[in-house]
Amino acid sequence: MIGSSLVKKIILKPGREKSLLQRHPWVFSGAVEKVIGNPEIGETVAVCDSAGHFLGWGAYSPSSQIRVRVWSFDEEEKISAEFFYNRIQTALWIREKSVLLRDTNAYRLVHAESDGLPGLIVDRYSDWLVVQFLSAGANYWKKEIVSVLSELGVGGIYERSDVEVRRLEGLSETRGVLWGKEPPSIIRVKENGFQFAIDIQTGQKTGFYLDQRVNRERLQEYCQGKDVLNCFCYTGGFTVYALAGGANSVLSIDSSDGALALADENVKLNQLPEERNRWLEADVFLALRKFRDEGRSFDLIVLDPPKFASTAAQAQRAARGYKDINLLAIKLLKPGGILFTFSCSGGITPELFQKIVAGAAIDARADVQILERLYQSPDHPVLLTFPEGEYLKGLVCIKRPTDH
Ligand code: SAH
Repeated sequence: MIGSSLVKKIILKPGREKSLLQRHPWVFSGAVEKVIGNPEIGETVAVCDSAGHFLGWGAYSPSSQIRVRVWSFDEEEKISAEFFYNRIQTALWIREKSVLLRDTNAYRLVHAESDGLPGLIVDRYSDWLVVQFLSAGANYWKKEIVSVLSELGVGGIYERSDVEVRRLEGLSETRGVLWGKEPPSIIRVKENGFQFAIDIQTGQKTGFYLDQRVNRERLQEYCQGKDVLNCFCYTGGFTVYALAGGANSVLSIDSSDGALALADENVKLNQLPEERNRWLEADVFLALRKFRDEGRSFDLIVLDPPKFASTAAQAQRAARGYKDINLLAIKLLKPGGILFTFSCSGGITPELFQKIVAGAAIDARADVQILERLYQSPDHPVLLTFPEGEYLKGLVCIKRPTDH
């Protein structure tokens, strides 16, 4: 039992403690029986079962469906600047031990719930940190978190909390310098030995899709002599690896002209053969249809669309979008062609994604085999007690040629 009457508490309804006992960090509003002590937004509360037994220390978020996000299941733990220091140091240790970060100075340093820091994202781009405070609790401890991060030997810390999910937490969107110098408009980083120019101030997410690092490396292995179509190319991540992998030609499509301008810079930075490379500013859904009508075909197609669904509830609409582009891509593949297909929608499980791609193959009247299953890079670890942390999944497939 929590002794001190000064402690602000959340008492759960009977039987609603199960997920916390399994160390899942979310308390939904429907599980809350009583709020004691009038906690302010983001303030630390003790979550207790209906009999008053301690379950965890968490951050209170009065307007969110996720009413509390648990910082710690240890009753002895004090949520303080030191707590954030320890959690961030552990996250750093895990990244530094990972051999997969060779020749790389851009990586996710803190992956929110999966690193025991709900709602906090920290990405490192060489000497710069880009931070997102996505929950009331993370926002409440902003000053302390920035203070810990400022000790990591970086030039500056930039906030990119200009994301819609903040509104669910009763927070407004914001961005700007939090500490140190104003970052230059373009930052150069190294990924697997390649150079990338990144716009952390106005680029998508925190500037770069760090989660695809290992998958870009996989793609490189498949590209020798191939005609590659890279759909949703953003700043050319997969394009650079495809050209470096010896592709015969690469055509990359995105609807954002700003992303394509930076993508072109990235190909130049790595001194890749520009004569084999083409950019197309277009809507992928329309471009694929046009290619189909023109009877075009490719040896390898990458589909890495934006998030179509954040929640399981939006999964059905998202499924239609995934099926549409996968069907078109399978049709555009030559026999024996390779498909790298991804979904970063949290609401679409790997099983469901595989079913969608299977449905697309059936409609395309093609036999398709899975060669590899892909996931987010290991600097985006998944805590076993928080499976929601796994959001990116991909399949490497081959369109079977007719039997010889
Ligand atoms: N593969 C990229 C990340 C892709 S992010 C990488 O490795 O870096 C998704 C991209 O899809 C964004 O750049 C966005 O501008 C683009 N996009 C979103 N909807 C689109 C559409 N309908 N047609 C073309 N591009 C689109």
